[in-house]
Amino acid sequence: MRGVTFDRHGGTEVLQYRDDLPIPEPGVGEVLLRIKAAAMNYNDIWARQGVPGMDFPMPHISGTDGAGIVEALGPNVKNVAVGDEVVVNGAFSCGDCTECIRGVPMFCKQFRIWGFETGPNQGSEADYATVPARNVIPKPANTTFAEIAAISNVLATAWRMLVTRANMRAGDHILVWGAAGGLGTAAVQLIRAFGAKSIAIVGSDEKAELVAGLGADYVLNRKQQRITKEVMRITGKRGVDIVFEHSGAETWEMSTHCLRWGGTIVTCGATTGFKAPLDIRFLWTKQQNYLGSHFATTAESRDSLRFIASGQVKAVIGEVLPLKEIVRGHELLARGDVAGKIVLLPD
Ligand SMILES: [Zn+2]
Repeated sequence: MRGVTFDRHGGTEVLQYRDDLPIPEPGVGEVLLRIKAAAMNYNDIWARQGVPGMDFPMPHISGTDGAGIVEALGPNVKNVAVGDEVVVNGAFSCGDCTECIRGVPMFCKQFRIWGFETGPNQGSEADYATVPARNVIPKPANTTFAEIAAISNVLATAWRMLVTRANMRAGDHILVWGAAGGLGTAAVQLIRAFGAKSIAIVGSDEKAELVAGLGADYVLNRKQQRITKEVMRITGKRGVDIVFEHSGAETWEMSTHCLRWGGTIVTCGATTGFKAPLDIRFLWTKQQNYLGSHFATTAESRDSLRFIASGQVKAVIGEVLPLKEIVRGHELLARGDVAGKIVLLPD
């Protein structure tokens, strides 16, 4: 099969597009998927570069977002049939331990993010991949493979952050960093569907236009406007109810300044750095909540995909590339100048 693989960490020179990789065999409880579309994720860059303290399976195929057609079933697979058109929740776990049953597969000892911690050569950036049957979800009929690969995991991640963790309610003001990215565009649309109000932060006029078109209530350009001042003006000096964080070191302190007393910062990542100052006074005097959120359960994927089926949330695709142009995909993702997701097509 064709796929993009690497056997050591480094720059884009370590990425090899190959057409002689073996097609994997589905194990117990797994299905073999013919991948029709994959989407890129910042994990692709971390896996390629390496992260201190993390061991990545080698050789490595990246890709946490993918959709395709079920080609074969491993033993003990029920509820999925050959020929089904599906999208994958990329948060894999054992399914049977106490944490899995509790509904927090991220706490499972066998928790693995597809194409990041799985392996060797087990991600969506290839013709074929084996995935747990419990992680496949029927593709909504009103989407293409490219669209559903692009939106599924980011929407589920935004759902867990806002709905499950931060308890978003109608009327809430929610500050969204990186609003024009894959995660941000999903969040802005979900906030609108819930009757809450988004304050969407972007870095260019072009991106401002995009997020306004998705229904953002307020759009701020972080390069031209003072975010804290504008947020206080919009909220009548109260601050926002929720900050949707995934940026990290560069924005964290501003997030705390924009947050109302008793408000919630929820974060699922830190692409600009892992360390940020914490003024502990605010935790008790302002009674603010700082919450972590990691990926999403398959149940959260299924719940959030109803909003795709209803047409209330749509995929935002900034770039579609053939898989063999993976190097360009890594360059675009690293620069952060693509609005929405980067989709890779094996054909
Ligand atoms: Zn488990």
